Amino acid sequence: MPKSKDKSALKVQKGIEQPASINPDAVEKYKSTKQNLQEVREYVDGILAGEIGIMSKAITIVESSLPGHQKIAQEIIKSCLPHSGNSLRIGITGVPGAGKSTFIEAFGKYLTSLGKKVAVLAIDPSSQRTKGSILGDKTRMEELATDKNAFIRPSPSAGSLGGVARKTRESIIICEAAGFDTIIVETVGVGQSETAVHSMVDFFLLLMIPGAGDELQGIKRGIMEMADAIIINKADGDNIQKAKIAKREYENALHLYPPTESGWIPVVDMCSAINKEGIQNTWDIVQRHNFFCKKTGFIEKRRHEQMLQIMLDSLDERLKESFYSSPAIKKLLPKVKNDILNDKISSYEGARILFDNLKMR
Ligand code: GDP
Repeated sequence: MPKSKDKSALKVQKGIEQPASINPDAVEKYKSTKQNLQEVREYVDGILAGEIGIMSKAITIVESSLPGHQKIAQEIIKSCLPHSGNSLRIGITGVPGAGKSTFIEAFGKYLTSLGKKVAVLAIDPSSQRTKGSILGDKTRMEELATDKNAFIRPSPSAGSLGGVARKTRESIIICEAAGFDTIIVETVGVGQSETAVHSMVDFFLLLMIPGAGDELQGIKRGIMEMADAIIINKADGDNIQKAKIAKREYENALHLYPPTESGWIPVVDMCSAINKEGIQNTWDIVQRHNFFCKKTGFIEKRRHEQMLQIMLDSLDERLKESFYSSPAIKKLLPKVKNDILNDKISSYEGARILFDNLKMR
């Protein structure tokens, strides 16, 4: 023992067995908390410095369902939140084959040419592919993927819509904290994830293809009602005439819908993503909408709603986690399951018994 410690008031008298004053488990826990804090700080510093590699790793942590990762993820999000909310968030949907990736590539490249930093996130809860939809096909958005001012992230691997939506919301926060000023959230327009995407973006764009009529039925009315703009893609070659007809049809159809929540009147227009035509025009529409919503205060209202939604999602998850990790529930659940399977109690009764036994921590 060093001399200085010998003189210390804390010196342990020889021969007296000192009881452990600190629970060794607590020491381990303290150490790991300290390590976590260190890790969180490194992530947050990297994100705020705009380091893409670190930002990407942080999103992986957010997407992980390991409890240890979730804890770190929540801390990262907490530190990033004050640096978020400064981007323009654009949701883009359309049926498979409508040209979403071709459009996003052309649109994204146009935006980076204006000096913008563009992040593309995908939301596709139905995707069973671990790589998600965006990069599932390597040829998608090749040019944008190599643009140093762009970041492309495939959909988190399949999970519940709520889970995927939360992960995407948190990824948006991380991208914004890293300085991305335009966030594009792509969703496959098959009907289930659009409402979730609509709730997390400022502008919702529906990409359609000419040869209307059929498409009008293919895309659910609810999705059309959410759109701030309907852009008819593939308005090129022999398709131009068909695109013009489709434009008129959609304009007529929109007249029959109630006004959007913001009071904005949705715009219908055409583009050819492959020829990079109508891209600038689409950006002009987004900007006009943004100007309109800022003037009416709708953007602020929307952001507030989004903040509350994040709280509700987080609460949902915590409640579930707290429920299933409660010792009383862990003990009771197998018995209740058994009783239901043996017709001793009904499923509803089982749920009630479990709920009544819950002691929130
Ligand atoms: P996604 O499934 O909605 O992402 O659609 P893709 O971007 O993969 O496009 C589907 C197909 O449509 C591809 O073969 C594209 O080359 C083609 N495509 C996309 N945009 C256009 C366009 O503006 N004009 C034409 N003629 N074809 C296009």
